[in-house]
Amino acid sequence: MSVELSIVIPAYNEEESVVPCYWEVIEALKPLGKSYEIIFLDDGSTDSTFEKLNELSKTDNRLRVLKLRKNFGQSAALRAGFDHAEGRYIITMDADLQNDPHDIPLLLQKLESEDFDVVCGWRYSRKDTFSKKVYSKFANYLRKKLTHEQIHDSGCTLRAYKKECVNNLELYGELHRYIPAMLGWKGYRIGEIKINHRERQYGKTKYNWKRLFRGFLDLLVVAFWERYSVRPMHVFGGAGLVFGFLGFIISMYLGIMRLVYGRGLSDRPLFLVGILLIIVGVQFLATGVLADILLKIYYGQNGRKNYLI
Ligand code: UDP
Ligand code: MG
Repeated sequence: MSVELSIVIPAYNEEESVVPCYWEVIEALKPLGKSYEIIFLDDGSTDSTFEKLNELSKTDNRLRVLKLRKNFGQSAALRAGFDHAEGRYIITMDADLQNDPHDIPLLLQKLESEDFDVVCGWRYSRKDTFSKKVYSKFANYLRKKLTHEQIHDSGCTLRAYKKECVNNLELYGELHRYIPAMLGWKGYRIGEIKINHRERQYGKTKYNWKRLFRGFLDLLVVAFWERYSVRPMHVFGGAGLVFGFLGFIISMYLGIMRLVYGRGLSDRPLFLVGILLIIVGVQFLATGVLADILLKIYYGQNGRKNYLI
């Protein structure tokens, strides 16, 4: 039996929140009159999150509970949810009651009426700790600078998607924060609406500074990938040629000094610099060629395409 909507909710040690979260979602979806499934991903919880959900699922066959073997992280849990979702539209949200399920109909309405492929929530009045809000401001600022995607709040997971746009989306590490950017490169249309955000009632945030820092490193990968993944040779090769050329000029200069004016090379640090630049230049060129070959192999595999229709 296929359904219209899949609600995908990762939960990691949220034993107090998951049951109220389930009821809130049910309540919010009622007026829509659409068929739906709710998929909870227990992301390796060590508390009773899974038991609570499992118990609940015996009373409602629209509720599906998947248990990840260990804590793989929110990105991996979302990917697992996407892989198992059967709905034409997918909604993702958090299990900790910070998102308000009553925003789901608004997201869907925007998705359908304005023909977006994904509509993202914007927590314009965010209820988190001061340090988290500051970090988030900084991260959002950097992301806007480094990627071509400009929505306000990339860290908010309350979003509505058309199923097809997440089909081949690679999600690992902390990449869920950059889903809008990744979908943007593929040419999908991205919208956003302001949503309600609430304070965490139970448990605590799963994101410490270490994890947030990893998220920041993932941003660099994402930004680099966006710009250069198609032709790495353009960046590595370009840098290699510039370095190599500088090294060549220096060597020529030193060579002329030596041959014409008889100046020795042993007391000239520049000699070392010239040689180094040539070596680095050759290395960069080689890296560029290698990266290009890797991509050729990647796209040469069955079904890998560098375009979407
Ligand atoms: N989460 C998860 N796996 C993790 C970390 C978090 O499934 O490794 C879930 C968590 O249970 C919650 C959502 O992802 O439902 C968002 O996490 P959290 O509320 O800690 O993030 P914050 O709101 O503080 O940014
Ligand atoms: Mg939260």
